[in-house]
Amino acid sequence: MSRRPFVGLLCLTLAACARQADVIITGGMVWSGLSTGAPQPGSVAIGRGEILAVGDDTALARYVGAKTERIQANGGLVMPGFTDGHTHFIDGGFQLKSVDLRTAATPKEFVRRLKEYAGTLKPGEWIVGGDWDHTLWPGQPLPRHEWIDSVTPANPVFVNRLDGHEALANALALRAAGITAATPTPPGGEVPRDAKTGEPTGILKDRALDLIGRVVPAPSPEQRDSALARALTAAASLGVTATAHMSASWADLASYRRLERAGRLTLRAALYLPLDTWRAVADSVARAGRDDGWVKIGGVKGYMDGSAGSRTAYFFEPYSDSAGYYGLLQHPEEDMRRWIAGADSAGLQVAVHAIGDRANAILLSIYDSVARAHGPRDRRFRIEHAQHLRREDIAAFGRLGVIASMQPYHAIDDGRWVEQRIGPARIRTTYAFRTLLDSGARLAFGSDWTVAPLDPILGVYAAVTRRTLDGRNPDGWVPEQKVSVGEALRAYTAGNAYASFDDASRGTLAPGHAADVVVLDRNLFTMAPDSLDRARVRYTIVGGKVVYRR
Ligand SMILES: [Zn+2]
Repeated sequence: MSRRPFVGLLCLTLAACARQADVIITGGMVWSGLSTGAPQPGSVAIGRGEILAVGDDTALARYVGAKTERIQANGGLVMPGFTDGHTHFIDGGFQLKSVDLRTAATPKEFVRRLKEYAGTLKPGEWIVGGDWDHTLWPGQPLPRHEWIDSVTPANPVFVNRLDGHEALANALALRAAGITAATPTPPGGEVPRDAKTGEPTGILKDRALDLIGRVVPAPSPEQRDSALARALTAAASLGVTATAHMSASWADLASYRRLERAGRLTLRAALYLPLDTWRAVADSVARAGRDDGWVKIGGVKGYMDGSAGSRTAYFFEPYSDSAGYYGLLQHPEEDMRRWIAGADSAGLQVAVHAIGDRANAILLSIYDSVARAHGPRDRRFRIEHAQHLRREDIAAFGRLGVIASMQPYHAIDDGRWVEQRIGPARIRTTYAFRTLLDSGARLAFGSDWTVAPLDPILGVYAAVTRRTLDGRNPDGWVPEQKVSVGEALRAYTAGNAYASFDDASRGTLAPGHAADVVVLDRNLFTMAPDSLDRARVRYTIVGGKVVYRR
């Protein structure tokens, strides 16, 4: 283990040097996040919510005063707090209290859990969330409303697949929304029908989700606040100190602001509101600012296509298991171009979901043409997921300065079945972390919670090992796309700070940066890659305050 002293991270001004630390973390392996290199033994001094200094234990002893709280890292990794670059954070809080269908391993278990959960509710209460995963039931059809109608006679059900791109409604919910055999299929969506009767099966995909979504009662402000509070507790226990909250609503923003005012916020959040409402977002920013405190309007978020799991991601070539079918665009290309140009001209940051290679290629060309038309600006366009890319499109990320906001856990989850969907050639550039980095792209990692677990350690494990969840790829699924621990951590810290325009104030342990710090129980850089997922968070510190200790 190297004992090289730290260089260049000591306090920058006399005032900072003279300051006493509120908290000092000693005896750790400190990874400042300024490079992908290995951590050094040392200490971190924190004062007034900021990093005061990082250095070896002796040099930092002078920051210790009578009131300094000492945290012993015991050789564990001390690093900038994780930022999750893509969550549906408040949905996560709702899901923590709803029925758990994610691990229902058979259709029978799926039905049993719904029955059990419905038994805990009052008649008329909706059952939403769920996050079911029919890829766990090979050879079985998609679920149908008849499976669950008899066990949920008094409660409308609208439970989504874990990717959020399709959902199952029971008969009560279909009735509440007025959906019948006569209901037309909305553009950008699908309403599968029974081959014989023509009646909807209960499954709705992408834009068709709105048919029922609009009749589901909105949660009250109190319910939303408690969901956010539950999500905050989960995030603190996992070392997540900031997030980009995607597809947020104004009600979500109000909830964050209420908890911020009450001093209950333990995470910084950049909210991305719907792209097609960019005018209202621009008006709000012009009127009231972005509020660059702990909660801010980060920009706008839109959707190009759907997901591979729901066969709605949009490809150049047909699905390998559905002849002649290419997936779908959620909105006409011209609408996307108009909205993105509008948002960009209003100075908003644009983040757009793109999964299939064709959706990504079209989006890159829209970004390119909008940037050319509007002239140079630090705009940091983002592509959310950037999941399946043609080789020729990968270099465009670096060239155009487009951020690839990716979710490594999806790779070890989708890696179980996506080759059946798109064949052996296209998967070579699926979740192409390595090729993207090598071609100069900036990566921002996240979970897409609730689609995947919020735990960033699992994301690091996934990016470094690419071992699929079914254990079938012990050396990694498309192993040439693996990245190093340092690269994965950078994408989870500084990469995300950059991706939400927060790199001047946080994302590394540089003096003056916000004191958002995580202490892990061991050093990820020296662990065997296949055991990385065993690391645990010991302390989470946000703005200099300990918000979690184990
Ligand atoms: Zn998402």
